[in-house]
Amino acid sequence: MQDEMPHTEAEWKQKLTPEQYRVLREKGTDAPFKGALLHEARDGTYRCAACGNALFASDTKFDSGSGWPSFDNALPGATKQITAASLGMSRSGIPSEAAGMSTEVVCAQCGSHLGHLFQDGPTATGNRYCVNSVCLEFAEDKK
Ligand SMILES: [Zn+2]
Repeated sequence: MQDEMPHTEAEWKQKLTPEQYRVLREKGTDAPFKGALLHEARDGTYRCAACGNALFASDTKFDSGSGWPSFDNALPGATKQITAASLGMSRSGIPSEAAGMSTEVVCAQCGSHLGHLFQDGPTATGNRYCVNSVCLEFAEDKK
């Protein structure tokens, strides 16, 4: 997988489906309650649909009711968080508290957009990674 990593947006466009490209590379959002992995309940690993990087373990997945696959933790080093402030959006008049509530989450390996991290999770971590189904690929654990 590594050697096939695209370097340009044109290469990404070839590798990904139009819907994947729109969400992963143009920071789009897929339709809630429609994602193929929303109700996935098997044991396994959720990987980046763009580069295959392992992102989330199935035991961190929970039903947030948001309509998107949700996780209370990411695998160590798998993702990067981009706050609105770090993008310079704090100057656009968004209150810092509101901006802080929606932290963008990207794949640490390829930089593709995955979803957002909120701090209102119901579990002990307090994290709620709200991830677009189209950005994920599920690999079931071998029994
Ligand atoms: Zn990736």
